[in-house]
This record gives sequence, structure tokens and C-alpha cells, in this order.
Amino acid sequence: MAITIPFNQPSLVGHEHDYMCQAIEQGHLSGDGAFTKKCHALLEHTLNVPRALLTTSCTHALEMAALLLDIQPGDEVIIPSFTFVSTINAFVLRGAKPVFADIRPDTLNLDETRLEALVTPRTKAIVPVHYAGVGCEMDAITKIADHFGIAVVEDNAHGLFGKYKDRYLGTFGCLATQSFHDTKNFTCGEGGALLINAPEYTERAEILREKGTNRSRFYRGLVDKYTWVDVGSSYLPSDLLAAFLYAQLEGRASIQASRRRIWESYHTHLADWALAHDVQLPFIPVYCEQPYHLYYLLMPTPEQRQAMIDHLRAQGIQSVFHYLPLHASDVGQRFGGGDCPVTESVSERLLRLPFYHALSEGDQIRVIEAVTAFS
Ligand SMILES: *Cc1c(COP(=O)(O)O)cnc(C)c1O
Repeated sequence: MAITIPFNQPSLVGHEHDYMCQAIEQGHLSGDGAFTKKCHALLEHTLNVPRALLTTSCTHALEMAALLLDIQPGDEVIIPSFTFVSTINAFVLRGAKPVFADIRPDTLNLDETRLEALVTPRTKAIVPVHYAGVGCEMDAITKIADHFGIAVVEDNAHGLFGKYKDRYLGTFGCLATQSFHDTKNFTCGEGGALLINAPEYTERAEILREKGTNRSRFYRGLVDKYTWVDVGSSYLPSDLLAAFLYAQLEGRASIQASRRRIWESYHTHLADWALAHDVQLPFIPVYCEQPYHLYYLLMPTPEQRQAMIDHLRAQGIQSVFHYLPLHASDVGQRFGGGDCPVTESVSERLLRLPFYHALSEGDQIRVIEAVTAFS
């Protein structure tokens, strides 16, 4: 049977066409135009961060973070094994050695109780990932990082507008990164942002993002010509993409309301079935406000996960795995692997259900009925 309910589908909220037309009419299609500035201001004011910079992807924002922290060959960077390759690739590109942390079995976030044992004199950064936008144990992680003088960079690709203890995710590390890829809550196809919480990184971040030139300062009238002042690349997206993104960010209340309704509907309607079948559903600590990024089932065995995927597929419903353990990958093994039994177990049993803000109530009921018919 053909897929009739995809796993993900980008959907518009309203003003995307309109704003892109405005960007075209304004005649400024390159980076840092009017819509980019609107996105920066919205992120800075809403999250209360000193500086937000749009980037071409979360991957590129992470690469900027690695450059800003001046990561050198041989430096160690601690990351959860259960994450996307970009979380660590950005640092490996600068010569860093990845050190893989295992995850907690409840939130699937970096296990802070096993973090300190991974710290060495070469540890330069810890990159926690707020899986599904549910906050990592930032109190404990920050305490360890501060004690050893290690930088924290939050990979907040899933977690924009989520909170840990009443504070927005992305505001704990000296730097944090966001993704606006198609599969995230807010999108412009491909895009990202770097959030700068430690102001000493701001000037250099602007330079790295503008090909190693001081062009941003030139535009602000702070210098009388712009020249090559540092290494750098081109990490700024076209204002056309920023226009699309601004419509999405402006529509965040409606996007988040739909996502919340969908998430809660899965959680309510699958609870009894999950209990009866020994299936683990997402766990949200009381002090975490999640941004409803994804919904997963943790099946009792890998065989049951495959059977569930096939069962849903036969009814036209697409469900997908998530991350494969990085420590067990070819590259991870080359760096010495890691001891991450929870990651291994979760990775082979987790599946994600269709989740996007335009998922209709009728389609969601079909998914729920299909899941609960599985035994
Ligand atoms: C999506 C994702 C990324 C990469 O985002 P891009 O914008 O596609 O570069 C990085 N880390 C995590 C945890 C992600 O989910």
C-alpha cells in the first residue's frame, strides 16, 4: 500500500509567500536583509539572548561554535552517542576527538551522572542535546562544566521555545544552536541559528559568518572600510529564506498549539495500550516544558519494532527509526568507541510516529487505531 500518512510534511502557516514576495520587492536577496534582522530580533527578544545569528543550517552553527571555541587537534568534546552526526562532526572537522556519553533511559538525554567520569584535562567542550526538546539536566551539567572550566554548547535543534526550570533551552551554554530544517518545528527548508549567550564571542561570530571580514562592523559604521581580519566562511542564509522563516516564527503560537494537541492526543490514547504491551512512551520531567518536537514508542524488542514499522506500513502509515549509536559507527570506532549500553538498546527499539502540525485529526486517529491494533 502507498504511504498516505507520511512521517513528516512541511506545512505553511500563512504569510510565507507574502513575506518572500516582499523580500523580492525589497531587492535584497543576499544575507542580513530586513527579514534576517526581524528573525534575529524575534529570537533575541523572545528567548532573552544577547545575540542570535541566522545560519545556513544547525550544522553550520555548530561549525561556528567549534571555531569560536578554538578547538584544536587532540581536544576532546563530550557528546551523547544518541544524536545526529552534525553534533560532533563540526568539532571533528577541527581535529577534536569525540568522547561518547551514554543517555538516561527515561528522557534519552545525556546521562549527567556518568558525565564527570568522561572529563579529562583535554576536555574542551560538552555538547548536550535536548532530545525531543526535553531539557537535559542542565543544573548538573553546568556545575560539572564550571568546576572543570569546560565550555557548554547546547545542540538545541529540537528544542526551540522549550524550557528547563522556567528558563529557555538554548540560554544555558555559552553558545547554542538551532535548526530550521524541514523536519523541525519551524522551518525554511534548510536553515539554523547560533545563539550567543557569552557576549565575548559576538564580534568574532559576526566575522566568521561573513567570510572572515569585519563587514558587519563596517555596515554599522564602526570601521571605515571592511577587510580580511580572520578565518571565516559564508554561514548566512539568503533573506528569501529568512522571510519564509519569519512567517513560521511569527506563527509559533499556532504551530505549537497544533503540535501540543497532536502530542497529547498520542500520549492519552496510547497510554493503556503501552502499559499492557510493555511499550515505553516519552517521559517529561515536571520541571521541563517541551516544545512538542516528536513522538516516539520504545518497543520491548528490536523484532517488535520492525514488526510495528511493517504493520503501520501495510496501512499506509510511515514510521521511522531515529539515531544509530555514533560510538558504534565506523568513525566512532576509529575514535575508540564508547561504553553506551542504554544508547544501543534504545536505538534499536525506538520508532517515531507521524508528527507535523498539519496532521489532521482524522489521520491521527488512523495512526492511533493502527498502533493499538498491534499486539
Ligand atoms: C536536525 C539536527 C541537526 C542538524 O540540523 P541541520 O539544520 O540539518 O544542519 C543537528 N543536531 C540535531 C540533534 C538535529 O536533530
